[in-house]
Amino acid sequence: MADPCTTLVALAGKLDKLALIRRLCDMIAIPSENPFDQAPSLGYREQEMGDYLLQRLKELSFEVDSHELSPGRRNVWGRLKGKGNGPSLMLVGHLDTVGTEGYPEAFRPRVDGDCVYGRGACDMKGALACYLETARLIVESDIELNGDLLIVGVVDEEWQLTGSQHLGLHGPWADYAIVGEGTSSGANKELSICAAHKGDYAVKIRTFGTAVHSSVPEQGHNAISDMAEVVRSIDRYHRELGQREPHPLCGHGTASVGVISGGSMACTVPDCCEIHVDRRMLPGETVEQINSEYEQLLGRIPRLRFEIGDPLTITAALDVPVDCEVVEASVEAYKAVTGNLPTIRAHPAATDAPNLGFPAVIFGPGAVEQAHTVDEFVRIDELEIATKVYLGVVLRLLSAEEADV
Ligand SMILES: [Zn+2]
Repeated sequence: MADPCTTLVALAGKLDKLALIRRLCDMIAIPSENPFDQAPSLGYREQEMGDYLLQRLKELSFEVDSHELSPGRRNVWGRLKGKGNGPSLMLVGHLDTVGTEGYPEAFRPRVDGDCVYGRGACDMKGALACYLETARLIVESDIELNGDLLIVGVVDEEWQLTGSQHLGLHGPWADYAIVGEGTSSGANKELSICAAHKGDYAVKIRTFGTAVHSSVPEQGHNAISDMAEVVRSIDRYHRELGQREPHPLCGHGTASVGVISGGSMACTVPDCCEIHVDRRMLPGETVEQINSEYEQLLGRIPRLRFEIGDPLTITAALDVPVDCEVVEASVEAYKAVTGNLPTIRAHPAATDAPNLGFPAVIFGPGAVEQAHTVDEFVRIDELEIATKVYLGVVLRLLSAEEADV
């Protein structure tokens, strides 16, 4: 195979910007809102988004398949078989979007100036459109890949990440992945490579007291007063987390109380109070370790009766070594495409990447600030850069002799 850099320049010159934009607009027009805690029904067309992706991949001669997780919810994928035993690469995107309340233009894609507007433009149908253009450029060239290229659409990223969890357990798998969540940042809107992010663990904590008439509070035990102590100790805990050894990309873990409720009426000393605590975890931290920190923290408060409930949320942290092949290939491809060295940083939000079970970096068009807004857009130049970088990574990794993991 020719030098990947020369091949990349030749192939990138054939990028069809209009086709790329057209496919993105097609996908924005498919309302694939996550149904969240509802069963998928009319209007929640995640599956139709999956069918669209499958159809395009089939046209490109990919072998396509899917897994149904629950009625109407299906992970879909296509595989372009490599000719040898080289490593395989998966380009992963989620099929769902967040809701569209207060966003009447959500499913009417619009190209205006340098941007494409509509729900999912940057989160993350833009990346899916880039994957399809990458696939087209490879398929229509005479390049032979040594390893398999997979393009995968997963369901339910915006709520419980069940799509990527299922994929991690049941496949398909690959040696490396890119998850195309938007990584544009900074004043120059450069696309960064994100090799890590924090996880999230949210849990309810309850305090218990003894209810009595409020005219004789000394005869009862006030669960809200106790909770005030708990909240203060969690604030101190958060400050203490900031003193610990930081993760090189993620910085420090955090703890924050987001919800409080308790008591029923002013004239009764409350016997129960509840908070929801959100703990952003660094790679390597575990729920068990954090629960034992909570136990210790609360154990220091005199006469406190408390309970730590079942988790409300657990999402995994991501930590791919910066010298991992998929990070290095992404850096090299970015340099070849833009002439600049990319920033390697942590992604601000949780993603599907840690659920896959093999090294995955996050790199894609669009910025987190535009995701989930009622004026979502993606810059067209970022779509072009992302496509070329994906192409560069495919050429670099899939021309290697064998997987090195
Ligand atoms: Zn997303």
